[in-house]
Amino acid sequence: MKSFNYKKSLGQNFLKDKNIIKKISDNINPNENDLIVEIGPGAGALTKELVKKNCDIICFEIDERLKEILEAIDSDRINIVFKDFLKVNLSEYIDREKYNHIYFVGNLPYYITTAIINKIISESDPYEIIIMVQKEVGERFSSKPNSKNYNSLSVFLQYNFDIKKIVNVSKQSFIPMPKVDSMVIKLKKNKKYIVNDEEYFYRFVKDSFAQKRKNLKNNLKNYDLNKLDRILKSLGKDLTYRAEALSVVEFVNIVNELK
Ligand code: SAM
Repeated sequence: MKSFNYKKSLGQNFLKDKNIIKKISDNINPNENDLIVEIGPGAGALTKELVKKNCDIICFEIDERLKEILEAIDSDRINIVFKDFLKVNLSEYIDREKYNHIYFVGNLPYYITTAIINKIISESDPYEIIIMVQKEVGERFSSKPNSKNYNSLSVFLQYNFDIKKIVNVSKQSFIPMPKVDSMVIKLKKNKKYIVNDEEYFYRFVKDSFAQKRKNLKNNLKNYDLNKLDRILKSLGKDLTYRAEALSVVEFVNIVNELK
């Protein structure tokens, strides 16, 4: 890859640390009837390990300059699609009936991490998502109420998944070296909570955090504030609290009472 002109705009920092590649791969354990979806395989550092897993694999890579190198990977169960993952219609490529579990794996540009996760959750039914993220972002995923990083994404992810850190990854593990350290996170599906109306739940959480500095009263003007105040008081809180004070289970309870 010495002569490759790495594109910063595509977040092209390729993994070179074999221990990290092995650690990620060891944490993905599909069965024969499962599917791995790899987003942004790059020069295939991880892909070459994933094809040993004996299940189907589909990769989405935006950069066609990587075609030759990726198509040289020896496997009859791999399908490489040269398209922008954010723009594809996943149901065109994934036959949901055919697979038991779907694993999403990716080491992607950090500026699209949230968009990628939102797409995976809304368009598919992921069993596990194993993803490399910027260290601070990884900490945000599992952060708790009242901590600096807690936001609507923390609530969405903790509502849907168990979140586990797999490994910290230093900048030296990549070529070229990025500015920030990273972390590999595993999100494993685990629906512990029941909400009556999931769409309403997502909207309510998003609206609650709409303006970080504002309290619930100001962020939730379009909701029934009297009823909301009564529910909050039963939880020992009120409308002057900010969204960051509410735990996932409190959000679930509020929404189930409100709707
Ligand atoms: N997985 C490889 C590795 O770990 O060495 C490459 C990781 S590199 C950080 C990110 C890869 O994602 C690059 O190959 C880049 O071209 C690709 N990429 C960036 N945006 C993408 C998108 N929207 N859809 C698909 N691939 C994308």
